[in-house]
Amino acid sequence: MDFSIPSEISELVDNVSRFMDEHVYPLEQEHHEPLEVGGPAFPQSVKRVQAHAKELGYWAFHLPSEAGGAGLPFMHYVFVNEVLGRSAYGPSCVGSQAPDSGNAEILWKWGTEEQKTKWLGRLVAGDIRSCFSMTEPEVAGSDPKLLRGNAVRDGDDYIINKHAWFSSGAHGADFAIVMAVTNPDESSYQRQSMLIVPLDAPGVNIQRGIPVMGEEHNHHAEIWYEDVRVPASNLLGAEGAGFLIAQDRLGPGRIHHCMRWLGQAQRAFELMCERAVLREAFGSTLARKANIQDWIAEARADILAARLMTLNAAWKIDQAGPGGAREEISLIKFFGAKVLHSVIDKAIQVHGAAGITEDIPLSAMYRSARAARLYDGPDEVHKMVVARRILNQYEKA
Ligand SMILES: Cc1cc2nc3c(=O)[nH]c(=O)nc-3n(C[C@H](O)[C@H](O)[C@H](O)COP(=O)(O)OP(=O)(O)OC[C@H]3O[C@@H](n4cnc5c(N)ncnc54)[C@H](O)[C@@H]3O)c2cc1C
Repeated sequence: MDFSIPSEISELVDNVSRFMDEHVYPLEQEHHEPLEVGGPAFPQSVKRVQAHAKELGYWAFHLPSEAGGAGLPFMHYVFVNEVLGRSAYGPSCVGSQAPDSGNAEILWKWGTEEQKTKWLGRLVAGDIRSCFSMTEPEVAGSDPKLLRGNAVRDGDDYIINKHAWFSSGAHGADFAIVMAVTNPDESSYQRQSMLIVPLDAPGVNIQRGIPVMGEEHNHHAEIWYEDVRVPASNLLGAEGAGFLIAQDRLGPGRIHHCMRWLGQAQRAFELMCERAVLREAFGSTLARKANIQDWIAEARADILAARLMTLNAAWKIDQAGPGGAREEISLIKFFGAKVLHSVIDKAIQVHGAAGITEDIPLSAMYRSARAARLYDGPDEVHKMVVARRILNQYEKA
């Protein structure tokens, strides 16, 4: 097996790394006002970097060129995205931030010409942002068959009622893609549909940004959709295809996360090594302590394993599409999140008290690593998916 990176991709990776050094990491030192409902889609400082990224052609690497992206195959996107993932600002600076990347992918695949003209073009260009409202606080998000929010057909419109939370990115977004029950009498996987809902429509109430692990911010919104009327032409795909589209969205979305986590884990690893060689205690640097060496070797092995599994899943998607790579995607989703969490945890430990301050990036990285084990399917659900598929074979035999 050939593990080398094509020369044009390795050149791109070097250039993107330089772009990160010069334009993206400095954003981490700036203060950014929280995004507000009805306000701009991105902070001004991010827009400035986006303009530069576009000039360089570093834009929407995940989308095909016909959709306005750079059209990288999944396999090559791993190498670029792990570099972008090193900073929380990386993806936004090149128009590939979640949840817009996933929403753009499903609009591209399932949207009508009218929907593409109205929403997709501006979304891909970074002129607007979007959010995705699926999870409801009252029912287990792991099992979307339980979702209760509904959309009832009324003449040429749908009327939507739903209580959503963790709709990431709603503040400053123009529209949401909402999953709602349209066909309550159908079997469980055909009951839901996806609808495009402008967030300034009457009845949409973005109630709050949910504080997460002590952090007050507007990253994840709680939203009430109360008798929200949208034209039937805002239905995305067929009625009852919500589940199918959600799967289409989540497959690539999960692997995009895994690519970025490689960059986050690698950055934490580098911080850990730098600290270990500088800090002295009990007569030698931390780098000379056997247990710290043990962590460094384990972290290196974990990151390498996660990277190979991510590349393997990406390769499979390139060959067989997301549907054909379900097992590989689930494997790396829970394994990658575990590696991310454990490497950052070790890096914090090596830093002592400094590790949990906001003076260095590790504490923010730790918060997002903890969330990684929950969003886009908690660890346990992905393990269940993998184990069921394996055991099915044995039961059949
Ligand atoms: C940072 C972040 C961003 C998010 N962004 C979005 C978004 O943009 N849009 C959106 O709609 N949602 C979003 N979510 C919600 C996310 O998709 C859900 O949190 C996730 O699906 C889990 O649902 P839940 O929180 O209701 O947990 P539950 O479904 O209640 O699960 C709780 C726990 O039960 C256990 N569990 C569940 N099923 C099984 C099983 N089969 N076997 C064993 N154990 C099990 C797991 O340990 C799980 O953690 C986000 C969540 C986070 C944390």
